[in-house]
Amino acid sequence: MTRRTLLIGAGAGVLGVLLASCTPEPAPSPTPDRSPSPRPTGSTIAPLAFARSRWASDPFALGSASFTPAGVQASARDALAAPVDGRLFFAGEATDADAPGTMSGALRSGTRAAEELLAAAEYGERIAIVGAGLAGAAAAARLSGTGFELTVFDARDRVGGRVQSVVDEESWPVPAQLGGWLLGAQDADVSEQLNALDIRTGSLSASLWKSTKGDVEPVADQVLTDAIASAQALPADIPLAQALTDAGADPAEPGLAALLASLSASSGSDADQASSWFPPVIPPAERTAVLGDLGAVAAHLLDDVKTSLSSPVSRVAYDDAGVSLGIATGESLSFDRVVITVPLGVLQSDGIEFSPKLPFAQRGAIADLSMGFIETVWLRFEEPLLVTDAAIWHVVGGDATIRTWFNLAPLTGENILVGLVGGADAADFADLDDDAVLAAAAASLAPFLAPAS
Ligand SMILES: Cc1cc2nc3c(=O)[nH]c(=O)nc-3n(C[C@H](O)[C@H](O)[C@H](O)COP(=O)(O)OP(=O)(O)OC[C@H]3O[C@@H](n4cnc5c(N)ncnc54)[C@H](O)[C@@H]3O)c2cc1C
Repeated sequence: MTRRTLLIGAGAGVLGVLLASCTPEPAPSPTPDRSPSPRPTGSTIAPLAFARSRWASDPFALGSASFTPAGVQASARDALAAPVDGRLFFAGEATDADAPGTMSGALRSGTRAAEELLAAAEYGERIAIVGAGLAGAAAAARLSGTGFELTVFDARDRVGGRVQSVVDEESWPVPAQLGGWLLGAQDADVSEQLNALDIRTGSLSASLWKSTKGDVEPVADQVLTDAIASAQALPADIPLAQALTDAGADPAEPGLAALLASLSASSGSDADQASSWFPPVIPPAERTAVLGDLGAVAAHLLDDVKTSLSSPVSRVAYDDAGVSLGIATGESLSFDRVVITVPLGVLQSDGIEFSPKLPFAQRGAIADLSMGFIETVWLRFEEPLLVTDAAIWHVVGGDATIRTWFNLAPLTGENILVGLVGGADAADFADLDDDAVLAAAAASLAPFLAPAS
């Protein structure tokens, strides 16, 4: 395939590809299919392999990562995490005040909830964990072998939750990661798990900022850190976008908008909603990417633990004597104590009925915190779209939907581009069909497409 055939203009066929989607389960199976569709549309691209996420509409996630909106205290996460009557224990990234919205936060929260349960429980008790993501798996690993009768329930037919690696060597020489996969300096907990399993990682650095007119001068993070520092001196919290405006910056200016888009794509929150007092973490210039099967982490932590998949919990009834879990299949099962690790989005949607209702402090925290959106698209090409050592691409200006790309070619030698969308744009992105996602990718990549020779 030549570079020219990567960009199919109007009148050419849209590629038919099998999508890798987060919903409906089961896990995606992206398969290359290079036969042209008879339905021509506008510009699009023809990757060898394609995978995309849809976390916003996934009923067992309903979003990607929690964030703290302006005006809400980070202590809401402690309120969410507080055990109820010594029977219910809460974990999950949203309960971790130090690293919410991350894989590290999820792992740590699971261990923390397990320790709380250990302090309250007696030998031989029946314990359930709801959710087999990183938080549930970490809780299970801590409780396993401590003398309890332990069962983990997950609504999906796989473990890992918002970590989902598409392992399919033919389409993806490097597994496509549809959920979390990037690490920063504070992610020692995840690194430890990766090292134990010998899962490959690599470093992504050097950024390229481009508009359709050519290279653009990067916008430094300093503009964000300065605005946040000023806002943190105020008597009341304000949204990050307002903090920027107050500091004399214009969030709509194309360069700053591209920086904010990358912040949304890593945190799930938009600047007009995110807190300045508890702001999203600004992505570091150099990021560690997981290049192996991240799903193995949860699977390993759950080794030897009884795990019941395809078992959505719909009701949690608790009293002094214990906890009854209603499974959507109609069963009702009794336990002494339960660790609940479902995402904030599920708690906000009343996807699980609690009887009696959770205490005001917990309900208040669930209502106050916000679920953010991050969606991703993975594309593999036969040839590079652009030969460059830059691994992080920012799309400046125009109306591109996907403004942040990771180029895995310098790191892996594979022509894989990963697009990330965050915030409200990601919620819209999740609704797009595959052809529209490919068209959006083509439009977004326009500044990076080398002119055909
Ligand atoms: C696209 C995307 C990109 C991300 N990027 C990064 C990143 O680069 N770095 C990073 O650190 N983090 C990232 N994250 C966030 C990270 O993936 C999550 O914070 C973390 O995986 C959450 O783990 P958890 O165990 O708290 O929740 P989950 O993984 O969501 O686990 C909860 C489990 O509960 C199950 N469940 C839900 N409802 C029910 C029910 N009713 N009954 C039974 N089970 C139920 C779910 O199926 C799920 O398995 C990203 C997330 C997404 C979606």
